[in-house]
Amino acid sequence: MPDWSLVYRDFNPAEEKLREALCTLGNGYFATRGAAPEAAAGDVHYPGTYLAGGYNRLTTVIAGRPVENEDLVNMPNWLALTFRIEDGDWFNLFTVRILAYSQELDIRRGLLTRTVRFRDKNQRETTLVSRRLVHMRDPHLAALETLIVPENWSGRMQVRTALDGGVLNTGVERYKALKSRHLESLNAGDVDEETLYLLVRTNQSCLLVAEAARTRVYSGDGEKPVERRLVDGPPGWVGQDIFLVVKRQERVRVEKIVALFTSRDRAACEPRLEAIEAVGRAAGFEALLEGHVGAWDQLWGHCDIKIGGGTRMQMILRLHIFHLLQTVSPHSIDLDAGVPARGWHGEAYRGHIFWDELFIFPFLNLRVPEITRALLLYRYRRLNRARINAVEQGLKGALYPWQSGSNGREETQTLHLNPRSGRWLADATHLQRHVNAAIAYNIWHYFETTGDLQFLSTYGAEMVLEIARMFASLTTFNRETNRYEIHGVMGPDEYQDRYFGSDNPGLRNNAYTNVMASWVFKTALRILETIHPQRATDLGERLGLREWEVGNWRKMSCNMRVDLFDGGIISQFEGYENLEEFDWEGYRQKYGNIQRLDRILEAEGNSPNRYRVSKQADVLMLFYLFSTEQLQGLFTDMNYTFDPLSIPRNVRFYTERTSNGSTLSNVVHSWVLSRAARGESWNFFSQALESDIADIQGGTTREGIHLGAMAGTVDMVQRCYTGLEFRDDGICLNPNIPKKLGRISLKIQYRGNWLEIDAGPKSVTVTSRPCEIQGVRISFKEEVYRLDPGGTITFHY
Ligand code: BGC
Repeated sequence: MPDWSLVYRDFNPAEEKLREALCTLGNGYFATRGAAPEAAAGDVHYPGTYLAGGYNRLTTVIAGRPVENEDLVNMPNWLALTFRIEDGDWFNLFTVRILAYSQELDIRRGLLTRTVRFRDKNQRETTLVSRRLVHMRDPHLAALETLIVPENWSGRMQVRTALDGGVLNTGVERYKALKSRHLESLNAGDVDEETLYLLVRTNQSCLLVAEAARTRVYSGDGEKPVERRLVDGPPGWVGQDIFLVVKRQERVRVEKIVALFTSRDRAACEPRLEAIEAVGRAAGFEALLEGHVGAWDQLWGHCDIKIGGGTRMQMILRLHIFHLLQTVSPHSIDLDAGVPARGWHGEAYRGHIFWDELFIFPFLNLRVPEITRALLLYRYRRLNRARINAVEQGLKGALYPWQSGSNGREETQTLHLNPRSGRWLADATHLQRHVNAAIAYNIWHYFETTGDLQFLSTYGAEMVLEIARMFASLTTFNRETNRYEIHGVMGPDEYQDRYFGSDNPGLRNNAYTNVMASWVFKTALRILETIHPQRATDLGERLGLREWEVGNWRKMSCNMRVDLFDGGIISQFEGYENLEEFDWEGYRQKYGNIQRLDRILEAEGNSPNRYRVSKQADVLMLFYLFSTEQLQGLFTDMNYTFDPLSIPRNVRFYTERTSNGSTLSNVVHSWVLSRAARGESWNFFSQALESDIADIQGGTTREGIHLGAMAGTVDMVQRCYTGLEFRDDGICLNPNIPKKLGRISLKIQYRGNWLEIDAGPKSVTVTSRPCEIQGVRISFKEEVYRLDPGGTITFHY
């Protein structure tokens, strides 16, 4: 089914690592890259298995300075399986003649299949079909099946199956100077004839990880008699050789079933024991596949989105949903892990959690809000650490870090390498305090779509109040302008980290941060009125919240400073208008791809701080997150005249000055242009769709997918093109479907109701599944309707 499959028809060594990332299989608990089972890490392949939230810290001395980084650890490679014929070479795609090759990711079933027909130097022809899964129903299981068919020969074979804990974190070229050995091996061996186990520990976070693997060999329906021998290997590696005799055209199947447990698992005693028992109990490949597909069927039942944009576009959209659900799934609910910007698909950004949640949650809120709740609880559990961060920065309340990992400490690297210049540079991106506003925004929007007042009262309110407190303490009052200001921060645009020529990082009055701060103050006040008065009192007492403090929030929310210039352009930050215009054309001609202008300019001894250049949407985020009416409200309350007609000018101004060096940027630009400049918006949407599948950044996807952009494209379809908004305890629809998309059919869950929305060029139909709860208010073109469970309503336009 071409709209459910990502297919490659050749072996392309240069693309292999990209394909490994795109063909990663995962279940929200762990993920394994789509690397060939016979492959070891090197120039072509990079096998990687990552646990959701499986971090470890290491210190490296760089330029005479100790630098500590927290990494997402590459866990033991459970795939390891290879073979040789007679006493020949171990199977290696580079030493045989490939007669046929294909690799298919079956997105609907979560199954990766690689088929190779090859001829070796002794003219033996063999077909190899390997299938694998990472189980979506039982999160501790994975399975690899290898079918070997000797086409024109009979003889002896030796299969080597192993668990490899000797792996390093070397998946990202620019981190190569950093320490990479995170695992120490504790214990390895065989349990019985067919089962191996391996126990390792991360060397700083002391996380125990056990894998057990059961390998069986079948011929036709029955088990095949084989001889086995444990192989001596380096520490951390355990392997077994299996000797067999095969006949021409015999279909030999090698099944490797693997269980993975850690010392963090709940309702489990000791990881090694759990893994050994689980693999002992596990069914064979086919039966496991059935349960796995069943779990995926259920997920797709809620999460699929159908579009009329053609097979490839449909496939990419599903691929994006697939990777989202592999990164965070119902199995994440019981874990204490966040949602990483790059999936659990590689080592880029070290598996850290950024503000990208903002782009990811809208999809989850409307289908599996339990997952959003769990991911917000990841933040709640780190509230105390955020309070410590605030104290360390001389602030009050809670300061969530720009990059978050195991315990919520600020994990942003202090130095980063510019691969173009080879220089290690100080990294100021931790000054992106706006991540806190994103957390507050996410809490409020989770509440708006689910109505989960219990969450808001018990957890959400406390986080938002503490964030409001932090922003209030970050704010200073300027007596000259009579405005509240925020200094020393960075907005989302990572090119602009300081004033040109200044040694001190940080900018004054980033418009996005200031408007978001105003929104946070307002939302904090609103939450105090939304939760039960007794709870508000209790919480206020517990947090030592004073009336004057709340009063200040009210004042600040109405008086934050936002600079405007040229009759209505929102200044990205104070002084932005004084920056020089940039020679975009000249640089495009000179460098071709100028997405990473920061690196180009730094290597030239220049700096983006000099110019009106942005890596990504910054001011435009405001139009992305708020409707025109909401924004008008925010500006009016702050005593600024904000003319909605100035929006297109702002959009034009900043899109022309942005290099889209972050994949998130295409999503935002596409969204904000969607009604005014459909053609241009479509181009941005297409770029966002291609972000990973075509690796538009030229080499980053292999290090991990861009989950924010993936989710962002899905959200474009579900909210932007359907015009889906949540207002006055109901939903609004205002479809604006691009011609090239034609039709959109999706399901959403809104406050317990499951609604099927089918939007076409002329009409939209909403059907509510029967259930025993209250119906939904739906607004369409200023009219309000009520849709009861079991009902259907159609609007024409
Ligand atoms: C972007 C950030 C983003 C991060 C992780 C960076 O390149 O500038 O906005 O949060 O990647 O996706």
